[in-house]
Amino acid sequence: MKLLIVEDDRSLSRSINDYLKMEGHICEVALTLNEAVQKADINKYDCVILDIGLPDGNGLDLIREMKSKKLTGGILILSAKSSLDDKLIGLKIGADDYLTKPFHFAELSARINSIHRRNNYLGLNEITFNEIRINTEDNQVYVHDKLIILTKKEYDLLLFFIANRNRIITKESIVEHLWGDNVILTDSFDFVYTHVKNLRKKIVASEGRNYIKCIYGFGYKFIDS
Ligand code: CA
Repeated sequence: MKLLIVEDDRSLSRSINDYLKMEGHICEVALTLNEAVQKADINKYDCVILDIGLPDGNGLDLIREMKSKKLTGGILILSAKSSLDDKLIGLKIGADDYLTKPFHFAELSARINSIHRRNNYLGLNEITFNEIRINTEDNQVYVHDKLIILTKKEYDLLLFFIANRNRIITKESIVEHLWGDNVILTDSFDFVYTHVKNLRKKIVASEGRNYIKCIYGFGYKFIDS
């Protein structure tokens, strides 16, 4: 998943960042409200982890901003124990959940996953797409009920394709979703091709259909037909 961590406490934001990266997520950090608003404007995040008390404003304003611009993506509020009002207002204006500080990182991760499932796959732990079945609890993928072994990137790519099926997906958006800002920008993004090719090969090897069509000059389309 691609995540935005909005937290002005540098040591906390660094620890959250380290933990979620270790879990395989792409993370970006904003230390101020202003920075967060700018990032949310440009990038598409699967979930924003949002501290309320920020040096230049109230984190709730980011929620208002995102909702008024109809930006998608889940929002998990991080709040101090005392601020019940903030949590309630937050939920009312569109946050998905909240977590009270201090919290365990495992709990944070579980909440993020559940928001993501709720927003993208109607809360299911299992996504079925014709002969492909994905268990999002243990990240296992089956084709015709036979387990196929995917790398982390291939797995994320498959989820991204299924969530965006029948739409043209540019190589740039794949890079942005799977690698975030951390990738060294090159003109070609040829490495995407290798991951797509390997994913396709593994599905087809288990007698799955070839859903991934190459749209010359644009990118790819995962076609449900
Ligand atoms: Ca704070």
